[in-house]
Amino acid sequence: MKIIGLIGGMSWESTAEYYRLLNEGVRDRLGGLHSARCVVYSVDFAEIERLQVAGRWDEAGAVLADAARSLAAAGAELLLICTNTMHKVADQVSAAVDVPLLHLADATASAVRAAGPRRVGLLGTAFTMEQAFYRDRLAAHGLDVLVPDADDRALVHRVIYDELCLGVIKEESRAAYRRVIDRLVASGAQGVILGCTEIELLIAPEHSPVPVFATTRLHAEAAVAAALAPAGQAQGVYPRRPEDAREPLDR
Ligand code: GLU
Repeated sequence: MKIIGLIGGMSWESTAEYYRLLNEGVRDRLGGLHSARCVVYSVDFAEIERLQVAGRWDEAGAVLADAARSLAAAGAELLLICTNTMHKVADQVSAAVDVPLLHLADATASAVRAAGPRRVGLLGTAFTMEQAFYRDRLAAHGLDVLVPDADDRALVHRVIYDELCLGVIKEESRAAYRRVIDRLVASGAQGVILGCTEIELLIAPEHSPVPVFATTRLHAEAAVAAALAPAGQAQGVYPRRPEDAREPLDR
């Protein structure tokens, strides 16, 4: 079993879910007392969030690249960035180490394709919904990605940072998210990607009329599969795509 390195803390509410899901996944696959071999490097999210808001992505990427180097030194053989948003700096992180990075959007897109939908709604932070790095990565897998309108994007973003990343789960926010999902479905979404690792703390399959794709769960499942794959099977190798460096779509 490969050692999984988690770049976490963004926020720790979802990193705790990763830890639980990885261990449950290994237990389910191997049985008995088996659990995941893993190392967690958890950053101070306040520092990362300040850099996000200031658009200082290179500096945020440097923090995560340092974390990746620490995880590699600790023996990690497979890396996860435990947030959708910070995949904006996936190239920078990947370039810092020789350890393969399992890209969250690739794991998600594979699961969506396997389930069938082509046209999917995307919920996440404003960075994830509005910029090219994540949407284009999904589109490269043949997905047609719909995002909510500006007011709905602002609401989804605010709930992530003001509530979910602080462990606050509110019924009124769940109801508001359900209305956003309904509007995406009315626009043609056949499925909805919960493209922020905290959203699945709020939204479950029964809250949506179409299938939801929970990125923390899907990323953890892909990591377990990669960690348990026979030696020599190059799962999780991260292909770099120059087009990921394009400018934001509409900001
Ligand atoms: N965990 C969130 C995500 O998946 C948001 C926090 C962050 O900005 O990293 O995008």
